[in-house]
Amino acid sequence: MTNTFSTTDTDIVLTGDRATGPLHLGHFVGSLKQRVQLQANHDQTILVADMQGLTDNAFTSEKVSSNILNVVADYLAVGIDPSLTTICLQSHIPALAELTMYYSNVVSIARLERNPTVKSEITNKNFQRSIPAGFLTYPISQAADITAFNATLVPVGDDQLPMLEQTNEIVKKINTIAQAPILRSCHALLSDYPRLPSTDGKNKMSKSMGNTINLHASEKDIRLAVQSMYTDPNHLKVEDPGSIEGNVVFTYLTAFHSDQDYVDQLKQQYQKGGLGDGQTKKILEECLQEIIKPIRDKRQLYLDDKAELIRLLKEGNQKANATANTTVQRVRASFGLNILEY
Ligand code: ATP
Ligand code: MG
Repeated sequence: MTNTFSTTDTDIVLTGDRATGPLHLGHFVGSLKQRVQLQANHDQTILVADMQGLTDNAFTSEKVSSNILNVVADYLAVGIDPSLTTICLQSHIPALAELTMYYSNVVSIARLERNPTVKSEITNKNFQRSIPAGFLTYPISQAADITAFNATLVPVGDDQLPMLEQTNEIVKKINTIAQAPILRSCHALLSDYPRLPSTDGKNKMSKSMGNTINLHASEKDIRLAVQSMYTDPNHLKVEDPGSIEGNVVFTYLTAFHSDQDYVDQLKQQYQKGGLGDGQTKKILEECLQEIIKPIRDKRQLYLDDKAELIRLLKEGNQKANATANTTVQRVRASFGLNILEY
C-alpha cells in the first residue's frame, strides 16, 4: 500500500468529485489519500461538482442535490481538514460558468467527440442520439474548474487524463489570445491505483454504475461485496494453483492491506496451490472492515450536524469565489470584454 509521490510546495492543487453519490473505495485509493497528504503543505481546493453531476442527471437532480453533503461528510471522514483545504460547491461559484462559456468558443465539437473517457461514458450511459450538450462539453467545464484556481496539480484517477489534456489545450489557446501566460497548465497526480475495478472486475468502480463499495458501507454490505468478488474461475479446489491476474481479491489486497509482505506470501501460496478463495476473501473482508469502520463512524457524526457542513461550504465558497473571480477577470479582459472596468 505505497502512496509516495513528489510534488513541489508551489504546486496549487485542485480536484473534485461529482455529487452523484457517496464516495467509494476507488476515490479513496485513487485520489482522497493523496489529497490528505497534500493538504499539509499545498494550497488545495476541492470542488463538489454538483453542476457536472447534472450533466447526466438533469431530470433526476435529486440524486445530485441529496448527495452534496454526503460527499462533504466523506471528505471530512477520511481526513480532509477544512482549515487546510478549501472545500467549495461548484454551482455557487459563478465565475466557473462564465469561464466555461469563454472556453467553449475555442474548442471544436469534433475535439469533444474524440475525448475517450466521454466517448466510453456515452456508450455506457446509452445516450445514443440524445447526448445532453452539457455532458459532451463537461471537459470544458472541468478546464474552467482547474484554471479558475490556477491549479498546476490535479490528483485524479486515470479516467481524468483526457480531461487534463483538453484543459492544457484550452490554456494554450487562451494564452495565445491573451498574448500572455494568464492561465497555468496542469498535470495529473496519479496514485498507485488510478483505476480500482468494481468487485466483478469488469469495469472501473463508479458511482453511476452501481458497482461500488462505499466509504460508509455497512459491515454486511462489505461482507456481501467481498463474498461476491471475482477471483480465478479455474481455481476450483483449494489445492489447485490459482491465478492472481485479474483476481479482484488480490487486486484489493494489494491496494488496501497494510502488510504487503504478507500479501506477497499469500500470492505465492495461491499461485502454488493450497490457499482457498474463502480464506483470501476472509482476510480481505477483515482488512476492509478495519479501514471502513472508522470512516463510517466519523461520517455519521459529521452528517448529524448538517448546519456545520453548510457553514463549511459557505466559508469555502467565499475563498473560492475570490480566486475564481480574479481569474475570470483576466480571461474576460483577454477578449476585450472588460470595458466596464475602466
Ligand atoms: P460517476 O460515476 O458519477 O462519474 P465516479 O465514481 O466516476 O462517479 P467521479 O466523481 O467521477 O466518481 O470521480 C472523482 C474522482 O475520483 C476522479 O478523480 C476520478 O478519477 C476518481 N475515481 C473515481 N473512480 C475511481 C476508481 N475506480 N479508481 C480510481 N480513481 C477513481
Ligand atoms: Mg466519473
